[in-house]
Amino acid sequence: MKNEGKDVIGFGAGEPDLDTPGHIKEAAIGAIQQGFTKYTPASGTPELKQAVCKKLYTDNGLLYQPEQVVISNGAKHSLSNVFAAILNEEDEVIIPAPYWVSYPELVKLSGGIPVIISTRKNNDFKLTAEELKETLSSRTKALVLNTPSNPTGQVYKRVELEKLVEVCVNNNIMVISDEVYERLLYGTSTHVSPASLGDEIKKLTVLVNGVSKAFSMTGWRIGYTASETSIAKAMSDIQGHATSNPNSIAQKAAYAALSGSGDCVEEMRQIFEKRKSFTVNRIREMPLLSCIEPQGAFYIFLNVSKIFGKLFRGEEIRSGEHLAELLLENYLVALVPGEGFGEPEYARISFATSMENITIGLERIESFLKEIQ
Ligand code: PLP
Repeated sequence: MKNEGKDVIGFGAGEPDLDTPGHIKEAAIGAIQQGFTKYTPASGTPELKQAVCKKLYTDNGLLYQPEQVVISNGAKHSLSNVFAAILNEEDEVIIPAPYWVSYPELVKLSGGIPVIISTRKNNDFKLTAEELKETLSSRTKALVLNTPSNPTGQVYKRVELEKLVEVCVNNNIMVISDEVYERLLYGTSTHVSPASLGDEIKKLTVLVNGVSKAFSMTGWRIGYTASETSIAKAMSDIQGHATSNPNSIAQKAAYAALSGSGDCVEEMRQIFEKRKSFTVNRIREMPLLSCIEPQGAFYIFLNVSKIFGKLFRGEEIRSGEHLAELLLENYLVALVPGEGFGEPEYARISFATSMENITIGLERIESFLKEIQ
C-alpha cells in the first residue's frame, strides 16, 4: 500500500527506526578502504570474538573463551545454527507462548518438535517452573527463553529465572537464551542472563545475542552465540558449510559497536522509553484496548479481545487478523495480529517508529475504535 503512495503508519516493524551510529558506519567505511574485504574464519574474526567475550564478561558477568563464540549472519541465523547443532529428529523444544514468530519454524526446520506452553496473562506472560515441569517429556531437549520478550516486552526477574533454571539443571534440559533486547530496558528492570546463575546452567545454555536491536544495525546482519566449546564447534562446522563467514565489513562494524562506549545505546534507549510511556498512556485512554506496560524491547502487546464480536460498519470483527485487515484498509494503520505469536486475542504494536508516526497512528486507532459498535 505504501508503494501505491498510501500514507500507511507502520506499527509492524521489529527494528529501530533510528540510524546506525556514525562511529559504527565509519568503521565499516574504514574496513572497505583498508581492503578488509576477503573471507574471514567461518565462525568470525578473532578480534570480534574477543570483543564479544569482553562484553559478556562486563555486561553479563560471564566468562567465555573466543572458541566458545560463533559469529553469524544475525541472531536469527545463530538460532538456526543452534537448533541444527543440538536437535535430533523429533527432539522437543519447549517454547513459551506468546513467542517470537520464528522459534517454532526454526525448530521444525531442524527436525525438532516445537512444544508450545501458554503462559498466563496474570503472570505477565512469564513461564513458571511448575508450568515447565508439567510440560517436560522424555524427548525434551531444550527450553527457549527470551527476555526481554518479543512480543510482550516483559522481563524475567532473577528469582523467576532461578526457579526455571533449577528445573532445567535437574532434568538436563538446555536453555536457548535469546537476549537480543537486553540493552533496551525501562524503569527499574534489569537484565539477568540465565547462564550467569551457576556453572551447571551455564554448561546447558546457548546464549544468543546480536547487534541488530541495541545498535540499530538490523541490515548489517551480525549475531553471535556463546556456549560450550563442543556446541560452538558443531555450529561453526554447520556455518562453514552453509554460509561461510558473516560479512567481513559488518564484522568490523560490529566490533566498533561492541567495543565502543555504549553512549549511543543509552541515547536510543531513552528515546524508546519516552515513546513507550506516551504510547502506553494513550492506549489506556482508549476504549476496548488494554495492555501490560512493557519493561523492555520496543513492543506493546495489546489485548484486543473485547473488540471481537463487535461491528465495524456493519461487519462483525471475527479475529485479530480480521481486525488488523480492517484497520489497515480503512485507517491505514499496520499492526501485527497475535495469531503468529501464538496469542490470538492480542496484537503487537512496535514503538520503534517516530513520535510523529506514533501520534498520528494512535489517533487513527482511536477513530477506528469510535466506529466500533
Ligand atoms: N530474536 C528476537 C526475539 C527477535 O525479535 C529478532 C528480530 O526480530 C531476532 C531474534 C533476530 O534478530 P537478528 O536481526 O539479529 O537476526
